[in-house]
Amino acid sequence: MKKILTNVKRILDNGSLQPCEIVMEDGKIKAIGMELEVPEAEKIDGKGNLVTPGFVDVHVHLREPGGETKETIATGTLAAARGGYTTVCAMPNTQPTPDSAEVLQSIQNRIEETAAIRVLPYASITKRLIGDQLTDMKELKQKGAFAYTDDGVGVQSADMMLQAMTQAAAIDMPIVAHCEENTLIHNGVMHEGEVSQQLGLPGIPSICESVQIARDVLLAEAAGCHYHVCHVSTKESVRVIRDAKKAGIRVTAEVTPHHLLMNETAITKNDANFKMNPPLRAIEDQEALIEGLLDGTIDFIATDHAPHTSEEKANGMEEAPFGIVGFETAFSLLHTHFVKKGIFTLKQLVDWMTVKPADTFGLPYGRMEIGTSADLTLLDLKTNENIDTSTFVSKGKNTPFDKWEVTGKPIMTIYQGQIAYEEGTK
Ligand SMILES: [Zn+2]
Repeated sequence: MKKILTNVKRILDNGSLQPCEIVMEDGKIKAIGMELEVPEAEKIDGKGNLVTPGFVDVHVHLREPGGETKETIATGTLAAARGGYTTVCAMPNTQPTPDSAEVLQSIQNRIEETAAIRVLPYASITKRLIGDQLTDMKELKQKGAFAYTDDGVGVQSADMMLQAMTQAAAIDMPIVAHCEENTLIHNGVMHEGEVSQQLGLPGIPSICESVQIARDVLLAEAAGCHYHVCHVSTKESVRVIRDAKKAGIRVTAEVTPHHLLMNETAITKNDANFKMNPPLRAIEDQEALIEGLLDGTIDFIATDHAPHTSEEKANGMEEAPFGIVGFETAFSLLHTHFVKKGIFTLKQLVDWMTVKPADTFGLPYGRMEIGTSADLTLLDLKTNENIDTSTFVSKGKNTPFDKWEVTGKPIMTIYQGQIAYEEGTK
């Protein structure tokens, strides 16, 4: 069955917008052009909106198996589709952990049965994320592991990390790292700085993250491994990554929307919707992240979508778990606060949410070309509304952005030629 998406505009390489139509067949893009005559095709009217490649998010927590009260693969992928995403990479801090072929296969089965969009699951670096025994990376690659990570915790032993990188390099797979030196966490629940002192809350120092990135880039150099840094949050981390790239080390990095949008001064009271790991840092860190993204030190944006129940998040900064949701607010917030203000171009933002993450990991997605998967996102850039967590498709309503006024949003998401989300329908 052929479909034609009409009356849309796409962004050209020079940033200008060009009217176009897109023909899809068998889940793939067949043609892109104007006045394409395909009389037998089913027509989807794009109503003059912008069409981009479906968004790609390589850092998400879908919580299944084991955390289904927070989110499931079904609810998480529907929320992702509402946010314009067609490819997401699911973190392995589930119960059980995908640290064996059997567990990874069972997760693949659940994805096959219940996901609304493409889900590429990570496998862990170490068994049960404990850090003392490596997984069988080759076997996990054969079961479709996207990459290896112990996200949620840092790999503490330099020797363990070097072995992991050496093994990954041998099979041409990336190591993806949540960087956190356990001896420097100090039971912190937010950034160690002026605001943590004012609120009387224990702080996590910036070096807790940056010192491990500094170690890891040298290990990656020694191992010849593609090393990717999750959710960079400090100015020192940006500097280390910039220097490592200059030295020719194969390091890439991501930043979250919330670290770009906020800093520690946003935390005015003990509200766990501001509790995430890494924490919101100082204003100089926020500025360094924006600069790092603009100069290419940081490669792209990933949400770190991390749903928790309202009950868990009601427990205050010291008791509540780390993490906030991100799928359903990412584009609107970034468009409003960076594109509308002239800090990012629309093309830059779209690239950081599509082709840049895809290219970083060699994925054949995130671009709109003939023969690629018909994964498309329609964006209405003119809507004005306030974020309202009660409308979220995600089970998680834990966000510090509730009620924020935003301009522009995804209104339709097409995955493999089928509508996965359409505004106004459920
Ligand atoms: Zn993490």
